Amino acid sequence: MKLLRRALLVLLVILIIAWFTVPAMVENRRNKVLHPGPYHASPAAEALHKSLIVADLHADSLLWKRNLLERSSRGHVDIPRLAEGNVALQAFTLVTTSPRNLNIYKNSDDTDQIRDIAMAEGWPPGTWGSPKMRALYEASKLHQFAAESQGKLVIIKSRADLQKYLDTRSEGMVAGFLGTEGSQPLEGDLENIDQLFNAGIRMMAPTHFTDTAIGGAAAGIKKGGLTDLGRQWVRRLESKSMIIDLAHASPATLRDVTAMATRPLLVSHTGVKGTCDNPRNLSDDELRAVAKTGGVIGIGIWETATCGTDARAAARAIRYAVQVVGIGHVALGSDFDGAITAPFDASGWPLLTEALLQEGFSPQDIRLIMGGNVVHMLLQTLP
Ligand SMILES: [Zn+2]
Repeated sequence: MKLLRRALLVLLVILIIAWFTVPAMVENRRNKVLHPGPYHASPAAEALHKSLIVADLHADSLLWKRNLLERSSRGHVDIPRLAEGNVALQAFTLVTTSPRNLNIYKNSDDTDQIRDIAMAEGWPPGTWGSPKMRALYEASKLHQFAAESQGKLVIIKSRADLQKYLDTRSEGMVAGFLGTEGSQPLEGDLENIDQLFNAGIRMMAPTHFTDTAIGGAAAGIKKGGLTDLGRQWVRRLESKSMIIDLAHASPATLRDVTAMATRPLLVSHTGVKGTCDNPRNLSDDELRAVAKTGGVIGIGIWETATCGTDARAAARAIRYAVQVVGIGHVALGSDFDGAITAPFDASGWPLLTEALLQEGFSPQDIRLIMGGNVVHMLLQTLP
């Protein structure tokens, strides 16, 4: 009896230690920073960067077990690091399914590592089997952080919210807006759009790494176009003034959505084939099709997006995209905290401003790329 009690006690201690250490270990392995801060750009770049409204279209930070109000040595994004990087607006994208052994070529739905993460991080049991509940839980975390932030973090849900924030923003304030990676949280039912909208979600992609009931994924098995349900999905999102994000969509899905959209489209995180030719990145024609809707393309900073490991590689991809679609359609889409290795964390954005200066962009062009284009688009498209 004594032995059993001792064994149970040991087991309990192990579980408690695992509760605190496993999520940190998993995140440390997934979200690496190549060059940890503090970061130092040139005085000219620092001065210009301070004057910008910086907007990043993609970060998966809500997937991880961290209090985003506190500065962390893990991952890429938290509010203190965003403030330090002078980020005014951060899209927080909700990941709800992701296959094991994920790759940019071909993935099936047979496995799902987000379930493992949800269990390991102690998410409510209702989330373990439900992508919708995972999205709602992750969204609730951002609302909770905002409520506890003493005004440092605000959530943007409408044009009026954004305009008010821009008019009254003081140093150190950050705004977030919510989107989903893929339409998996709908669980095949468009009626769920309302529930996600009511949770503050304003952006949704048709797919993540796998094909969905809405359309094919660039890294899916069939990689088909929009389904009939997908066409209804486009109309439904447009009628609610939600933004469609074509990141991860198959070429056929991108073609179908750009052909029928009546509102500006967005690609929240991508590279361009022109500087990094792989199936994850957009061709010139795809860039043009998105820009033609009045949309914006967020260029990433990770190696699969840029074929490089520094800010200069991202600046080259941005230069290429601007040459194809013009200065008014290119933006930032870091994919921070999206299981990538980043050259810098969210406090290091001045390094990109510096790289854009070195790439020959004017301060006015940099103003648009670093956030001006996103703000302009959101002020046109949010409810
Ligand atoms: Zn992604």
